[in-house]
Amino acid sequence: MKNTQPTILTGIRANSELHLGHFLGVIMPMVRLANKYSETGSNINIFVPDLHSIISEIDGDLQQNLIRTLKIYLAAGLKVNQNVHFYRQSRVPAHSELCWILDCTATMGELNRMTQFKDKSEGKDSVNVGIFNYPVLMAADILLYDAIYVPVGEDQFQHLELTRRLAERFNHKYDEIFTLPATPKKQAEFMAGNSEGEGVRIRDLQNPEKKMSKSNHAENSKIMLSDEPNIARKKIMSATTDSIGKIQYDMFNQPGISNLLQIEALVNGVPLQDLISTWAGETHYGDLKQKVAESVATMLEEFQHKIDQISDDQILELLNAGEEYANKIANTKLKQAQTCVGL
Ligand code: ATP
Ligand code: MG
Repeated sequence: MKNTQPTILTGIRANSELHLGHFLGVIMPMVRLANKYSETGSNINIFVPDLHSIISEIDGDLQQNLIRTLKIYLAAGLKVNQNVHFYRQSRVPAHSELCWILDCTATMGELNRMTQFKDKSEGKDSVNVGIFNYPVLMAADILLYDAIYVPVGEDQFQHLELTRRLAERFNHKYDEIFTLPATPKKQAEFMAGNSEGEGVRIRDLQNPEKKMSKSNHAENSKIMLSDEPNIARKKIMSATTDSIGKIQYDMFNQPGISNLLQIEALVNGVPLQDLISTWAGETHYGDLKQKVAESVATMLEEFQHKIDQISDDQILELLNAGEEYANKIANTKLKQAQTCVGL
C-alpha cells in the first residue's frame, strides 16, 4: 500500500565538523520534526550526501566524519523506528543514474543562473563540473523518494525551485512519475512550525552581524560541537556585545545580546519570549554571559558523553538497513524514469 504521509528528507554534508549554528539551526529542528512525523507514518530519510562531499575539500576522513554526523542526530535525541532511514548517497547508485537522466532535461542556461555556482566559481581559474552539476544531483536525491519536505536553508531555495521545474518538465514530457517537493516558502513554514517560516540563525560570536559559519577561521567566532566545555565557556564570555547596557531582544541594534538570548533559549528548550521577560530590566551583560556560558558548557558535556556511548557499529548497522530500504525505493523510481526516456 502506498504511504500517504509526506516523506521528509534531509542531508548534511560531512566535510567538516559541525558548529553550534548547525546544531541549533538544523539538527535540533530536524530531530523534533522527525520524532513527531515518524510516529504518524512519515518516512524520514536522513542521508549523507557523500557524492556532494567530493565536490570540495574534505577536512579529515570522510568515513569518520559521516559516522560522527549520524551519531550527532542520535545524541540530539532522534528516535529511531522503522520509518527512520539512514543511508549514504553513494551506496544508492540510482542517485547518479537519475542525475544523468535529469541532466538531459536541464539546460546549461538554467544551471548557469544558480547563485551558489556563481559564488563558488567566482574568480577561480578552474572549476570542477561537479560544482556546476550538483543541483541536478540534488534534484535526483529528492525526486527518487517522492520527498515533499526537504528542510533546507535559504541558500538552497533556488535548487529546490530547480528540482520542481525539472520534475514538472519531465512529467509533462513523459509521464507523471515525479512528485514535486513543497515550495521553499512551504518548506520554511513546515521547518519553523509557524506561518512566518522564520528559521533560526545563530550569529558569529565575534561579529554578530554575520551568522556563525564554519568558513570563518577565527576560533572565537564559533563553538564547535567537539569543543571542550571550558573552551566553549571562554568563547561565550568573550562574545562581542554593545554599549547600550540593556538586556533585550533587538537583532538589529543589539545582535550580540540577542544572539546570546537566542542561544540560551534554544539550549534550555525555553520559549525565547519567556527568557526575554526574565531578563527584562537587567543591565549586567556579564551575568547573561555567565548564564549562557554555563548552559552551553553543560549542554556540550552531556552531548559529548552521549556521542561517546554510541558505537561506530551501531551506526553501520543503521546504514546497512537504511541502504537496503533506500535502494528498493530509489530503484523503483529510477526504473520508471528509464522506461519513460526509452532506456
Ligand atoms: P560555510 O561557511 O562554508 O557556508 P556553514 O557554516 O554556513 O559553512 P553550511 O555547510 O553552509 O555551513 O550549512 C549547512 C546547513 O546549516 C545549511 O542548511 C545552513 O543553512 C545551516 N546553517 C549554517 N550555519 C548556520 C547558523 N549559524 N545558524 C543556523 N543554521 C546554520
Ligand atoms: Mg553556508
